[in-house]
Amino acid sequence: ERERLTRLRHTPAVTLDAQAIELLANIEQPGDVASALRAGAEGVGLFRSEFLFMGRAGRMPDEEEQYQAYREAVEGMQGLPVTIRTIDVGADKPLDKSHKDSSLNPALGLRAIRWSLADPAMFRTQLRAVLRAAVHGPVKLLFPMLAHVGEIRQTLAQVDLARAELDARGMAYGPVQLGAMIEVPAAALMVQQFLHYFDYLSIGTNDLIQYTLAIDRADEAVADLYDPLHPAVLRLVADVIAAGARQGKSVSVCGEMAGDVGMTRLLLGLGLRSFSMQPAQILAVKQEVLRADARKLADWAQQVLAADDPASYMNAA
Ligand code: PEP
Ligand code: MG
Repeated sequence: ERERLTRLRHTPAVTLDAQAIELLANIEQPGDVASALRAGAEGVGLFRSEFLFMGRAGRMPDEEEQYQAYREAVEGMQGLPVTIRTIDVGADKPLDKSHKDSSLNPALGLRAIRWSLADPAMFRTQLRAVLRAAVHGPVKLLFPMLAHVGEIRQTLAQVDLARAELDARGMAYGPVQLGAMIEVPAAALMVQQFLHYFDYLSIGTNDLIQYTLAIDRADEAVADLYDPLHPAVLRLVADVIAAGARQGKSVSVCGEMAGDVGMTRLLLGLGLRSFSMQPAQILAVKQEVLRADARKLADWAQQVLAADDPASYMNAA
């Protein structure tokens, strides 16, 4: 089976009805680009940059060190796009395991973009490093956990400021597309505003499920209630995909759902054309894509969406 999948590496991911599907890799370190390329990824859809910052006893990588890391990933992908998500620490991803987060609800606390906006100088250090790395190949910036239009404006203002700082220093930087993660229900519900401000969107289903269902994604005691097929979750995912399609803007899914072969047909049926996942899942998902007829799946996906119990419809297509 594994050998059979390996042969799909150079096969374009196209459905039976000729829809081209973008299959991207999630990475945590620049060195992971090797496995992304080996799996035939068409780019990096999510570089979780926080892994560069973790386990360093609070000493942050400076602009130069970050620049080198992003540049390594960008050059390693040989002209394919690399989506660099700004630091997403907090909750299930503590900066330093020895420092226990003492806030009452870390998942609802100062994490991800909130953490970055609370320390704009640190945030701009990362932004400058990413902008500089974009000289070496196509780069997309991605911001985690945005929920409020005020946060969107602050974030974009910091990007402008980071560019101005590089201009003032006379340093070269490249063009970047700007994107937002949709991983808080509020963001999914106000997707129109997000589409107004951003070039593309990426749905983080791991957190979107957590926050929609009020189920801690890391708590074993409620793990059985963590349901990717909950109708509320599916509706939010479907609405974001549809809104992006109407505006001609790219929407991808970069949560675990994208790499789950049991979900591939449903996501295709809902109109998803870009999936980002662990490299090890890419060929198996590609196999599902090659067997799928996206047009036929669309009607079935609408039935799944309308069902009280979507799980019972999943084998019916
Ligand atoms: C997500 O929330 O789905 C996601 C991709 O981000 P992370 O798992 O890193 O929180
Ligand atoms: Mg997330």
